[in-house]
Amino acid sequence: MLITEATQKQLESVVLDLSRTFTDSITRRSIPSYLPTYIQSDSPLEDSYYLGKLAGQVGPNLVTRLTTHELDQYFRNIPSLKTQKDDDTLKLLDQQVKTYLDNRSDTWVARMRKLVLTTNRHWAAEVESSQEDTPQARDYAMLEFKLAQKELMDSLSAEVDRIIQTELLHYFQRGQIRDLPAATPVFKLPRRKACKYCLDLHVEEDGSPKVSTVADISKVDNQDVKPFNWKMSTGPTHPYCYCILYTANVNNVPGPSKALAAALQSSKASLLD
Ligand SMILES: [Zn+2]
Repeated sequence: MLITEATQKQLESVVLDLSRTFTDSITRRSIPSYLPTYIQSDSPLEDSYYLGKLAGQVGPNLVTRLTTHELDQYFRNIPSLKTQKDDDTLKLLDQQVKTYLDNRSDTWVARMRKLVLTTNRHWAAEVESSQEDTPQARDYAMLEFKLAQKELMDSLSAEVDRIIQTELLHYFQRGQIRDLPAATPVFKLPRRKACKYCLDLHVEEDGSPKVSTVADISKVDNQDVKPFNWKMSTGPTHPYCYCILYTANVNNVPGPSKALAAALQSSKASLLD
């Protein structure tokens, strides 16, 4: 055997740590540019939620422009920004993230196990065919394994980064609509370079935004749904979605936009590809 059971256990615990230390690994650097880099509590996700709540009152654009000092002032001066209802919502959201991470970490451990298993199998086959269990051959096989292991760990940490960004925006937008009446109109503004699905989902032919309501978007879950069936949702439509949510209690619904209409047109052309 090339890789011992003890080493395998060790590798698995490193993988499990990715989900155990998920919140700790959220640093200012992991916060996407369209969210304020305000981290004050042990839970950056919670901070993102409360920033979202503030955005529900003053608009997302203003919140993004405020300095840390100004944000602190807001949170000190609006005590009603943090209520029991919020604690309940946050508990629920945290539970969802935990369940999701638990599922993912099962998959991550399985991938690591498979890597160890195939490596050991290849090694056994090689030794059997060449009868050469020399230290050099071992070193070489171990080097190959370490490269494969690094590749796996890189892809897992990229996935963790993606989950962090997605969840930060999800918490933010949950906060945004938390206290708004169900009938409040909402809309999302994609960037001109947004993906074709997001443009189609959020922009009318004339380039004005499609309008939904708080009630409608809070029911939507796009996870495991095919892109063509995506709906306007609370939180990102897909990983790395940069569409910003606006609520009509603060921001008026903008009129037609030539730029967005053109972006939609060219994305429709590519939808036919
Ligand atoms: Zn998007």
